[in-house]
Amino acid sequence: MKEEKPHILLVEDETHLARGICFNLEQEGYRVSHLESGEEALQRLGYDRFSLIILDIMLPGMDGFSVCKEIRKIDPRVPILILSARSHEGDRITGLAAGADDYLMKPFNLSEFLLRVKGMLRRSSWYRPEPVEEGYRFGDNEVFLLSYHAKTAQGEIDLTELEVKMLAFFFANEGRAVARSTLLESIWGYAADTETRTLDNFIVRLRRYFERDPSHPVHFQTVRGIGYRFSRGQRDEREA
Ligand code: CA
Repeated sequence: MKEEKPHILLVEDETHLARGICFNLEQEGYRVSHLESGEEALQRLGYDRFSLIILDIMLPGMDGFSVCKEIRKIDPRVPILILSARSHEGDRITGLAAGADDYLMKPFNLSEFLLRVKGMLRRSSWYRPEPVEEGYRFGDNEVFLLSYHAKTAQGEIDLTELEVKMLAFFFANEGRAVARSTLLESIWGYAADTETRTLDNFIVRLRRYFERDPSHPVHFQTVRGIGYRFSRGQRDEREA
């Protein structure tokens, strides 16, 4: 594999601080993605992997501790550095118990912060084996979200970033009817009332890839007046 810049995920809702952190990490040669809530971070981790996650505790919505626990269910190995404005020793313990690897109190000294990041990345690269990705199976298909490809009845296909985002969203909401506006907002970030055929064209494409009979879809179903529902479909009888 080619040498890649470490990719760091920063989850921090304070815009000013986040900008400063991003700037300094990029100066050090890292690639940084910044999200403002735990919910967004967990969604992102459904289809993306990072070398390190920097996680604020006080976030809108889900707090950092809960986010940390959820991250550990998805990825038990990624190093997590928790940032907290609170000064209680208890927070440190709670953070570590939730699965964080290190803890830094705000406001922090920039060079200390950068040293911690560097140290965590170095330690984690010592013991980390190449992850073997388990595919998500439904019908005749197996989808590998992390490596952007899928095995289908028609053979192996490559997936685009948008297709992966969409599939990750559907898999996470399996069996639930999802409103068109929710899909548009989560995948494309459009305002909910945007008029667009893009979504329908996308569904047509997914059906062509993954349905035995695209005109009678089993997995990507239309829910009249609402939007779409993804279903894994009937289990193979041999497994029952
Ligand atoms: Ca905060």
